[in-house]
Amino acid sequence: MAYDENNIFAKILRGEIPCDKVYEDDYALAFHDIAPHAPVHILVIPKGPYVSVVDFSANGSADEIEGFWRAVAKVAQDNNITEDGFRTIANTGVNGGQEVPHFHVHLLAGKKIGPMVAG
Ligand code: 5GP
Repeated sequence: MAYDENNIFAKILRGEIPCDKVYEDDYALAFHDIAPHAPVHILVIPKGPYVSVVDFSANGSADEIEGFWRAVAKVAQDNNITEDGFRTIANTGVNGGQEVPHFHVHLLAGKKIGPMVAG
């Protein structure tokens, strides 16, 4: 699947649409989900144009992959969710329920998140 430069997260990265920013560095941007499913619901996205976790992990540079995952860790630590725990989700494609075709990791925290998948 080709990367869609007009997806909503690409527009957020270009500053065309605002976001409630949590963290930013050379490799990643993190912001609050607009429709949170938990008291803490943060999205972490790489700055590069990757559709999915597969696209990113197969085609991202070593620096991009390291930078992104270091950012995920930093966001979790800075938001004090590591001790009580949280869920990391990366939906992929139609069966995964991915709505936005720019790779992103959800961090869900602040309460018990419940069953791993919906019934
Ligand atoms: P997906 O289903 O692709 O894994 O998750 C996409 C997430 O992006 C959803 O949880 C949705 O609420 C969030 N989202 C969609 N549009 C926007 C937006 O414009 N701003 C923010 N902050 N989140 C968005």
